[in-house]
Amino acid sequence: MMDASLENIFRFMADIGHAFVGLSLFMLLLYMIRLKSFKSRTKKYTFVSKRERPVLTGSAILFSCSTALYSFLIIELTIGLNGAHYFWIASILSIGVALAVGYSLYVYFSYYHPFILEKRLKDIRFAPMISPRSGKPMTLLNEAQEDKFMSKEMIEEEEASTIDYDVWIDKDSDYKVIERYDTRFDPEVCSSCNFRTLMERRSEVIKKPQLHEQGLLRKSYECTYCRHIESRDVTLSSLDKEAEYESYEKDILDIPTGKMTST
Ligand SMILES: [Zn+2]
Repeated sequence: MMDASLENIFRFMADIGHAFVGLSLFMLLLYMIRLKSFKSRTKKYTFVSKRERPVLTGSAILFSCSTALYSFLIIELTIGLNGAHYFWIASILSIGVALAVGYSLYVYFSYYHPFILEKRLKDIRFAPMISPRSGKPMTLLNEAQEDKFMSKEMIEEEEASTIDYDVWIDKDSDYKVIERYDTRFDPEVCSSCNFRTLMERRSEVIKKPQLHEQGLLRKSYECTYCRHIESRDVTLSSLDKEAEYESYEKDILDIPTGKMTST
């Protein structure tokens, strides 16, 4: 017969395990609901590129913790004894189970998930767009073709930063849509294995930007696929230029649909 205080402790551990599983599922559910709520593809893209990894990682950690608690309880209840050395055996075994589950999830996030994420982002960004004027599919212009439809500021911004513009045109009606993507959170292409699995690990300001002088930022990357490490230097806009970009960005965001259309 198990004594009452021990039974209470086990019950409490099971409750924490349920809470972790519940929280883990809740995080995933909340993510999916929010994803569905975005109408504009640029907002959906930014959300997926920024939030998918942290949400899945958080939910995986919670799930691993719950497997530790559950396996501890299963082992303890199977042995059916409550001596101190059984406690240690059960603890060590359950930590082992949690580490195995955690490691499998870690492998999944490092090696497989980046490819799934990349495909998902492409599907969002390059999904066919139907012209509301003619009802026909619109054409996406390539980098060379799109420049004549973009302002000088947009072209400069695309070259200098992590912002990408897509220009879609409807040849029948001249209707045009320009979409602005912030690709800052996307993994980069690894120079060693050529997969888009190079993740930013650290960034360090080497030189602070001054009012009229550019700064320098050193970003350290690690490839989650081949473990290649590299660092890249990016210039930071001088403070006066940054203020210009910011006011420009605000102009774009002020457009309610997040899209700019020509008339
Ligand atoms: Zn690589």
